[in-house]
Amino acid sequence: MSTRNVVVLGSETLRKKSKPVVSFDENLWKLLDDMKSTMQEKKGMGIAAVQVGVLRRAIVIEIEKDKFLEIVNPEIVKTKGKETDSEGCLSVPGFYCEVTRPKYVRITAFDRMGKPFEFEAEDYVARCVCHEIDHLNGVLFVDYTDEGKAYKKSKGVE
Ligand code: ZN
Repeated sequence: MSTRNVVVLGSETLRKKSKPVVSFDENLWKLLDDMKSTMQEKKGMGIAAVQVGVLRRAIVIEIEKDKFLEIVNPEIVKTKGKETDSEGCLSVPGFYCEVTRPKYVRITAFDRMGKPFEFEAEDYVARCVCHEIDHLNGVLFVDYTDEGKAYKKSKGVE
């Protein structure tokens, strides 16, 4: 495993839509391993491939301490409720703000071997799942709130 550079706010890459993973091979496994070690090094709780500059629909989330979930080609199939809590992002270092997200989410996805699975999450993990899936569509948490928009403006970025 090795760490990779994290793409930060202001980069056009972060605004691009990631493409589905089609080959569940060594390249994907190395990418997921590197994403995990990069996230750990930076003390993040979730990371999307685009954040290391790879436009593929792959995510790693620390769902509880030292327990990691790999999510490839996710689709949200159900959401319920709303919850507002503080959020941050490895690609927006040093900035946090409250964001409202679904309290519950259910997704379908594939594991690193290409095996499909379903996953349900609530609260903090649901928040992470939604935040990371947003990354695959070029959306950042700072897009949602006035504080986030003001922060982008202060940095001179869209
Ligand atoms: Zn993020």
